[in-house]
Amino acid sequence: MQYHAFVIKYAEIGVKGKNRYIFEDALVGQIKRVLAKCDGKFSISKVAGRIYVSADGFDFDETVGALQTVFGITGICPAVAIARDGENRLPNVDALCNEVIAFVDGVYPDKNKTFKVKVRRVDKSYPMDSMELAAEIGARILDAYDEMRVDVHDPQILINVEVREQINIFSKVIPGPGGMPIGTAGKAMLLLSGGIDSPVAGYMIAKRGVDLEAVYFNAPPYTSEKARQKVVDLASVIAKYTGRIRLHVINFTDIQMYIYEKCPHDELTIIMRRYMMKIADILAGESGCMGLITGESIGQVASQTMQSLMCTGEVVRDMPVYRPLIAFDKQDIVDISLKIGAYETSILPYEDCCTIFVAKHPVTKPRLDIIEKHEESLAEKIDELVKTAIETDEVIEL
Ligand code: ATP
Ligand code: MG
Repeated sequence: MQYHAFVIKYAEIGVKGKNRYIFEDALVGQIKRVLAKCDGKFSISKVAGRIYVSADGFDFDETVGALQTVFGITGICPAVAIARDGENRLPNVDALCNEVIAFVDGVYPDKNKTFKVKVRRVDKSYPMDSMELAAEIGARILDAYDEMRVDVHDPQILINVEVREQINIFSKVIPGPGGMPIGTAGKAMLLLSGGIDSPVAGYMIAKRGVDLEAVYFNAPPYTSEKARQKVVDLASVIAKYTGRIRLHVINFTDIQMYIYEKCPHDELTIIMRRYMMKIADILAGESGCMGLITGESIGQVASQTMQSLMCTGEVVRDMPVYRPLIAFDKQDIVDISLKIGAYETSILPYEDCCTIFVAKHPVTKPRLDIIEKHEESLAEKIDELVKTAIETDEVIEL
């Protein structure tokens, strides 16, 4: 089937009144962003509560794939568009019926299906009203294809015909990612490691319209260049959905070594995680973020028991910590990771900084007062080390 356009469906919940324009404009902006990277000529228009993408010389799979990365889109309907002729006339009813019959043939080689025709006549000068036209087209389809039957309640095929500036015929709905368009919420700082969880956490929050910035704590030479590249690659995977991401790479080695030297080894992970959160909190504040995001999930590892989460979350003073995976099982997280295209990168074997200094028996029920007591032995140098880590922040724009 040769399509000429896409009708974009989006959920309208929470998009009433004044906010609707903000939502739609952001959605149009995001559609433009992803289509700019696709082959073809596209023009996007917003008419009467719908968004249309007319497309010329495009690759179908590439274009649909790109639209499927735009949060806010719930459905992508490939459409055939019939323009007015030189005298500004739309095809007459007979010609229109023939177009719809050809459309059905092109899209559904197997005709053993129930169908319903739904007409939306916006151009009121068109000779039949919506109901009459739907009945006429339906009758003509029945004539043309013996096997097809009408089912107005639960049809297998819903054939939409819109009569407006042009005529659009569409039927299939390819699912979009849902959510809210990027740019309709604020910005948050994702603590991005090389694992499976944090990219999924970032994706989920971004899906609510939140812009992302990310921070990775790197520990060279204990972690390799490959581990760092893996995180950069994961940030690019998320950036496909969010547009640009600024990734901060923080050299965490000296802080980690200092904690290793001064604190009990079974508390190392918790104390390290506390310093990561502290630094992320500062970076987030400096870059206008309104929250931190982590990939934590209750009970997944020692550093994510409820006691551990209390201890690591406690250092964040300036903003909420969003943990979208908090109640997810690992398999559910893996499923999303696969769906968004992060999994293959996430499972590459390059170690991240936490795995290197991990104790054999890390505390699973850390007590905040004891952790704080042990952190006192860091007093001499830790502030200076944190300051240096932030000052030497390497920013990568993706
Ligand atoms: P992930 O799969 O996201 O790596 P994880 O199961 O390995 O998570 P932890 O190592 O306990 O869990 O980390 C919990 C969260 O802390 C991560 O989801 C991430 O948000 C953050 N985090 C951990 N290590 C780093 C790091 N090196 N740089 C940035 N953030 C990190
Ligand atoms: Mg990890």
